Amino acid sequence: MTAAPSSYRSWGGLAGRDSRVVEARDWVAHPERFRNPVLAHGQGRSYGDSCLISNGTLLDTRNFGDILAFDRETGLVTCEPGLTIAQLLDAAVPAGWFPPVTPGTAFVTIGGALANDVHGKNHHGAGTFGCHVRAFELMRSDGHRLLCAPDVNPGLFSATIGGLGLTGLVTQITLQLVPIRSTLMAQETLHFDGLDRFFALAAESDASHAYTVAWIDSLAGGRHFGRGVLFRANHASQPGPLRAESARSLPFPLKPPFSLINRATLAAFNYAYRLGQPRDGASRQVPYGPFFYPLDGVRNWNRAYGPRGLRQFQCAVPMSAAREAVETMLRRTHAAREASFLTVLKLFGDRPSPGLMSFPIPGATLTLDFPYRGARTDALLAELDSIALDAGGRVNPYKDARMPAQTFRASFPQWQNFSAHLDPAFASDFWRRVSAP
Ligand SMILES: Cc1cc2nc3c(=O)[nH]c(=O)nc-3n(C[C@H](O)[C@H](O)[C@H](O)COP(=O)(O)OP(=O)(O)OC[C@H]3O[C@@H](n4cnc5c(N)ncnc54)[C@H](O)[C@@H]3O)c2cc1C
Repeated sequence: MTAAPSSYRSWGGLAGRDSRVVEARDWVAHPERFRNPVLAHGQGRSYGDSCLISNGTLLDTRNFGDILAFDRETGLVTCEPGLTIAQLLDAAVPAGWFPPVTPGTAFVTIGGALANDVHGKNHHGAGTFGCHVRAFELMRSDGHRLLCAPDVNPGLFSATIGGLGLTGLVTQITLQLVPIRSTLMAQETLHFDGLDRFFALAAESDASHAYTVAWIDSLAGGRHFGRGVLFRANHASQPGPLRAESARSLPFPLKPPFSLINRATLAAFNYAYRLGQPRDGASRQVPYGPFFYPLDGVRNWNRAYGPRGLRQFQCAVPMSAAREAVETMLRRTHAAREASFLTVLKLFGDRPSPGLMSFPIPGATLTLDFPYRGARTDALLAELDSIALDAGGRVNPYKDARMPAQTFRASFPQWQNFSAHLDPAFASDFWRRVSAP
């Protein structure tokens, strides 16, 4: 067992205090040998403190990622939890299969995707990652290994999908992949000039396209307020080459002593980004990598935020209140003179997740990224929380590093039912904060 080095940080730059690290396989063999509390840690692509445990032991799953079975006829794959989406793509794509749901980076583990029940650009049709999990094995700290499926240990099945790693260590997962005929994506780009147009375009696009997502120019004010670009795509229907794209990435070349993201650099970026997109209405075929994982080409791009890191805010609000709530949040951010580098807006669909604590609800989801500037950033995030909750919405736990217990409980009123399924030896810094009396 070793002290957790700095690589065990979350994507926002947080680290646990006095954490130890042990290989997850070693813990599986002898759970009684290690200091409790424990928490699984995948690739640390959660933004806040839900993947961290101070004064405890991280179970590192990165060397616990073999593919155990892959049926090329049915697309059913069984793997260990540390397999990354990038590694899954390497194995699945040449056989004509694709992950059923993927987040905006391929550098996450399957265990992490299950524990956070992640969503992708196809949520409106495919639901969350958990909708495609057929079964998994869960190891509890008392040494019991339990098969969980919709009809076997259904309570733990439901609590573990989106259960933030708090019900035990997932040691095997069986996932249904989706078939593809080509690695190309048939993508259309649509520019919109305000939120009304976004909501109309997104609803129309969700009916015709498997994948939709929009980028908002968060600095645009006045008559340009709410402008952005919507991308919609389907897997190309014409048979094409089935080669996995390289997941190699270049390192971010600097470790700047301050955030490179500020209003001036962001204004320049937004200008260049918008102009760099294809013209309104353009259709073209693009490789799946740049479509799904546009930031994966630069490893550790989060270093651009300097030593204080970044905070991400993501909320989901019901459709009836979505238009007004999104406008209020964007205006509030604007008034606070904060610069959000990646402002993403998407509609969630109504396919229910099997996960008890799954984040998405039918409606809209807004994501904002801020360089962390201490109390000033925290105050803005608290305001955004209130706007989301007042609209009947919720705040995403695995993007969060500071939400108070009241916000979490208002977001997830089912949290007490969930608590009945916790493993007593598992905890996270996030959970300590939001479950404190
Ligand atoms: C650039 C970028 C884009 C992103 N885009 C999206 C997106 O589009 N949609 C979305 O939903 N998320 C998105 N995310 C967030 C990311 O997908 C999730 O936080 C994901 O769960 C991280 O996986 P990980 O392997 O890094 O897990 P970690 O962050 O290390 O851990 C995540 C959680 O999983 C638990 N866990 C990990 N392995 C196991 C296991 N074997 N058993 C039990 N629990 C386990 C951990 O305890 C922790 O609670 C994005 C993140 C980044 C950095």
